[in-house]
Amino acid sequence: MLASRLVAPLTGERTEEAVRYLAERYPSLWVTTVGKSVMGRPIWMLRVGQGEPRLLYVATHHSLEWICGSALLLFCEEYLKEEARNRAPHGTLYLVPCLNPDGVELVAKGIRAGGVLSHLVRRATGGMGDTSRWQANARGVDLNHNYEAGFAAYKPVERALGITGPAPTRYSGEYPLSEPETRALAGAVDTLSPHAVLSLHTQGREIYASRAARAAGALLARRIGYTLGTPEGAAAYGGLTDWLDVRGMPALTVECGLGVNPLPPETLSQVYREVLPLLWHAPRLLGKM
Ligand SMILES: [Zn+2]
Repeated sequence: MLASRLVAPLTGERTEEAVRYLAERYPSLWVTTVGKSVMGRPIWMLRVGQGEPRLLYVATHHSLEWICGSALLLFCEEYLKEEARNRAPHGTLYLVPCLNPDGVELVAKGIRAGGVLSHLVRRATGGMGDTSRWQANARGVDLNHNYEAGFAAYKPVERALGITGPAPTRYSGEYPLSEPETRALAGAVDTLSPHAVLSLHTQGREIYASRAARAAGALLARRIGYTLGTPEGAAAYGGLTDWLDVRGMPALTVECGLGVNPLPPETLSQVYREVLPLLWHAPRLLGKM
């Protein structure tokens, strides 16, 4: 069994190790990448199941929220075991556990993980070089503000927050999809054309739904004891779910867990247990829409 010590805290390197572990043990697992990060690290995608509906689950837009990526890796193994017993839900799941491998490396290993971009990272941390609260990619762009949805409207909000360039969090970038990570994910959405997309973040035990996923979102929220909310303030612009909403697609942002920020590694099994029913039932509820 994929031990939680292998994936908590999650780094780019550990994501790769976990993917290799799963690929070696489960022949039905199909592994690919959707692209590479700014620093050339692979962005892994795992495919389980087959047929319709097709859903895409993505985690770790924000590096401090790596626990959702670990939960997706644990879920992948559980799915494969249940599949072998003919107990997995119908459909195909595409899992992207770590969209921001550079960001998690910066949090786990410090500024040296920024390599040739270390100078930029240092400047973005006000010259201090402390990356322990780094949420962005290695160019200081907050990936979940980099999608084409209210991008221009967010710029004054960003300036009001005192953000004028690369930063540990909340800088949306020069233009929508300016970053290889968001382009990779957007490309996967275009290529796979999933029936629905789940984007996992922390925290607050809350779910935000695109208009096309409102009813299913309410059912799934009730199922796991989360509330169905509406993003407010800076969180309301440029996110993946906002972009999919513009395209009329069913999409959910799930704010997993509740507690100190970031959620510590020892809370992984709790967070995993909390969201497992949602990961399991989403194909049935969202795939019909
Ligand atoms: Zn987040």
